[in-house]
Amino acid sequence: YKVKDSGKNHYTIYNESMDNESQLTIENSLRKAIEREEFELHYQPQFMLEKGQLIGMEALLRWNTASQGYVPPSDFIPIAEETGLILPIGEWVLREACKQSVVWEKQGFARIRIAVNISSLQFQQSDFIDSVAKILAETEAKATCIELEITESVAIGFIENTISKLSKLKEMGFHIAMDDFGTGYSSLQYMSKLPIDRIKIDRSFISLLNTSNKNDTIVKLIVMMAKGLNFKVIAEGVETENQKAFLKSIDCDEVQGYLMSRPLKLEDCNRFLTETEGRVQL
Ligand code: C2E
Ligand code: CA
Ligand code: CA
Ligand code: CA
Repeated sequence: YKVKDSGKNHYTIYNESMDNESQLTIENSLRKAIEREEFELHYQPQFMLEKGQLIGMEALLRWNTASQGYVPPSDFIPIAEETGLILPIGEWVLREACKQSVVWEKQGFARIRIAVNISSLQFQQSDFIDSVAKILAETEAKATCIELEITESVAIGFIENTISKLSKLKEMGFHIAMDDFGTGYSSLQYMSKLPIDRIKIDRSFISLLNTSNKNDTIVKLIVMMAKGLNFKVIAEGVETENQKAFLKSIDCDEVQGYLMSRPLKLEDCNRFLTETEGRVQL
């Protein structure tokens, strides 16, 4: 990826391998995707490392197109963000996750919290809180069953604003996670002020575990900092037993990754819930 200056102080990210034409094609079909019902949510379970208890599911957006099958998020989320289409798409995702949380609660899986990715453009809208409140009311979902995943980039330059928005969301009952932690620009000073529940250590750190002492030290420090600040800490992208063992040895609370489970289609997710009652051997 490269950052391109598209004028008006507006920077966009584009994929070099993607020419303008295919970008336009994606943009045009993206505009119709919601009404054509081409979006789905897949769910990736998250577990407590100590006892293997299920704590939640991350909702991951999938675009199932008639012509090309599944288009990966990395191919369309950047375009959706550039064009603002992420706003209606993000609302669709949150509404869908809220509806699913009501269904799971009715089925007796009340402990499942669904983590929803919120793009910074979405979070920065002045009516973000209103639109979230509207979706909650409409779906009758409980905010405590929803975790909002935001990235460090939401806060750049608007710390006070971010803190007050996050505080309101927390008052409403939402859980807040800081996604992709370690890849952005958060200062340590600002970490101590943010009203969040959980830090998600980015997969790039996890994939290097046991290969570099320096990397292992950083991960250890992130876990210690999270604990000291009373945040839960989850490692994303856990793929190997060795990575899991290291995370356990440094007292990381929670894990998510292919080792435990890939993101699941709803029907597979339901089968997983029924068969395991949300508990796996870790
Ligand atoms: P993310 O939020 O960091 O999500 C985690 C990504 O890592 C997902 O990719 C997931 O499938 C993948 N993953 C999980 N475990 C493993 C593992 O063990 N190994 C490896 N190699 N990968 C793993 P996915 O689903 O392709 O999503 C990519 C990104 O797209 C997400 O990164 C997120 O930034 C964005 N995204 C996905 N759904 C949404 C959405 O509903 N809204 C917004 N705004 N962004 C979304
Ligand atoms: Ca995420
Ligand atoms: Ca992440
Ligand atoms: Ca990531």
